Amino acid sequence: MTGYPPPPEFAARANVGPDAHAHAEADAFAFWAEQAGRLQWDTPWDTVFDDGEMPTARWFTGGRLNVAVNCVDRHVTAGRGDDVALHWVGEPGDGRTVTWAQLQDDVCRLANALTALGIEAGDRVVLYLPVLVETVVATLACARIGAVVSLVFGGFSADALRFRVADTGAKLLIATDGQFRRGSAVAVKATADEAVAGLDHVEHVLVVRRTGETDVPWTPGRDLWWHELLAEQSPVHEPASFDAEHPLFIVYTSGTTGRPKGLVHTSGGYLTQASWTHWALFDAKDDDVYWCQADLAWVTAHTYVLYGPTSNGTTQVLYEGSPLTPHPGRHFEVIAGLGVTVYYTAPTLVRTFMKHGPELPAGYDLSSLRLLGSVGEAINPEAWRWLHEHVGGGRCPIVDTWWQSETGAAVIAPLPGVTVLEPGSATVPLPGLAAAVVDDAGRPTPPGVEGNLVITRPWPAMARTVWRDHARFVASYWAPYAEQGWYLAGDSASVDEAGYVWIGGRIDDVLNVSGHRLSSIELESALVSHPRVAEAAVVGAPDDVTGQRIVAFVITRDDAGADDTGLTEELRAHVARRVGAIAKPREVVVVTDLPKTRSGKIMRRLMADMTAGRGGGDTTSLTDPGSMTTVERAWDAHAALRDRT
Ligand code: ATP
Ligand code: MG
Repeated sequence: MTGYPPPPEFAARANVGPDAHAHAEADAFAFWAEQAGRLQWDTPWDTVFDDGEMPTARWFTGGRLNVAVNCVDRHVTAGRGDDVALHWVGEPGDGRTVTWAQLQDDVCRLANALTALGIEAGDRVVLYLPVLVETVVATLACARIGAVVSLVFGGFSADALRFRVADTGAKLLIATDGQFRRGSAVAVKATADEAVAGLDHVEHVLVVRRTGETDVPWTPGRDLWWHELLAEQSPVHEPASFDAEHPLFIVYTSGTTGRPKGLVHTSGGYLTQASWTHWALFDAKDDDVYWCQADLAWVTAHTYVLYGPTSNGTTQVLYEGSPLTPHPGRHFEVIAGLGVTVYYTAPTLVRTFMKHGPELPAGYDLSSLRLLGSVGEAINPEAWRWLHEHVGGGRCPIVDTWWQSETGAAVIAPLPGVTVLEPGSATVPLPGLAAAVVDDAGRPTPPGVEGNLVITRPWPAMARTVWRDHARFVASYWAPYAEQGWYLAGDSASVDEAGYVWIGGRIDDVLNVSGHRLSSIELESALVSHPRVAEAAVVGAPDDVTGQRIVAFVITRDDAGADDTGLTEELRAHVARRVGAIAKPREVVVVTDLPKTRSGKIMRRLMADMTAGRGGGDTTSLTDPGSMTTVERAWDAHAALRDRT
């Protein structure tokens, strides 16, 4: 293995040192209790871990705390009230700097307002908001009064929003008058209205004025302006204490594998792991300017914007816009302008930057950066090296963090001051966590052989249930290895000789060609390593002879078209060289877009269904439903051409 050891200067100052794994392994529950001790508890817990009703484990039973107090008030009390909590960068170029004291003021006002509206502990509140300071305020105000928050991506359709509002049975929806999308103001209040129409449990719609739309549709009695409501409220609010197991939020998975599941996360255990992993993985320091670019509705931002960094008192960048607006270098401009030190991004975005060439980041002073992170998909080694060299200047470790909505916080990831990095591997489980790759019978697979990724020991941030569908929670994750008490992650993976974990994709996306199991990620990484390919999605289409045949959808860097047979042959040969002859795509389809979730994940399921002649999959999670139409057209044209020749 080649490997990237931590730079000595980084390791010397790192929050977490080389003995962390051994220390945690000595007694994992004691380790988590120690990390829970980093938080402020109103009542200490009696039992660290109570597995009485597995899989609904309980952590820190008897303990009581207020999450918002931990994430805001604590820092003001500690004398950091005038330090910057948030540097908000708005889409049209406006911005706002918010201190911890100002954040506390707003959170308290909204907590009072919510109480005045009749919202009580346990009630659900849905946020349909872009990346605004108000989104952070609303999330923490809900935590403060014990209301259960569910954030819905601001770009979702009325249908997608309605499903989540109805599923949670929310009493309150918080939305905006409009949103900026790629630089233009778009009215959205009508979408919010459509989503809640006829849902009697929605008592109020609270509206944040963002774009200054005129003629905002209004239902008197139900609808309220945020600024009017907050102005009437006192900035003083007496927080209550909640049980460690009190529900904190419901997060819906992106729906790549079916109808989105509403995972329920609770307070004490979740915040313990969110807080500690943020501190350890991102080496959080008081003078950092930390930027996690995920949309706030995605689980990544729950843990690594809304709760984790705030619990550590970390100064953050909140960025409202799309990354390429008004120009492709916008993220780098923000990093240079605010002196960002830690940048947590996603492979899909890295591949987008790569299309523009290394000249793009080279045009900005990125010397403030000291650490990078990646999440959402396995990062193609090609993209990893590009990020390391052209954004990180060769000096910044990259923490590739494997986790899920279900896990609540990072599970497999390097410690930036300790772990030798391997591009494309999330490396090993974090201290206190334990995972394995096993076959269907639960036997560990030999090195290099794909199997099912399982988590073999309970962890504090684990989801407790699927909202209103506990049977689905048990069936999806816990039933397959009930005997062992393991959690089935739904991802395929392999472990190498050094014990590093390599995620191969979702179990459902594993290809089976003439009895050979092939990982979609590995094939896509091979395609992306070709100079003419910007993005790739590989799916298995049904085949009478081989079971499945490999179909690759590629976005090219040049303007190659469907009739470019030379490209097809070039890519087939390239994959054969990189992975092996068995992995050669049978068909290569040039497309201009791929269906992606809001978090940038490719929805292979939809394309696999299309190649099998099955339609009608759930597309409510797509960022852009039109992308699938584009792919369908390309597929039809490709099939017509294929069948003629
Ligand atoms: P659904 O469960 O509805 O399909 P989703 O799994 O996309 O939605 P998330 O919980 O946000 O929703 O995503 C978790 C998944 O993302 C993981 O199971 C894994 O497939 C992928 N993933 C996230 N981070 C990484 C990573 N660092 N390396 C490899 N895969 C990752
Ligand atoms: Mg999932």
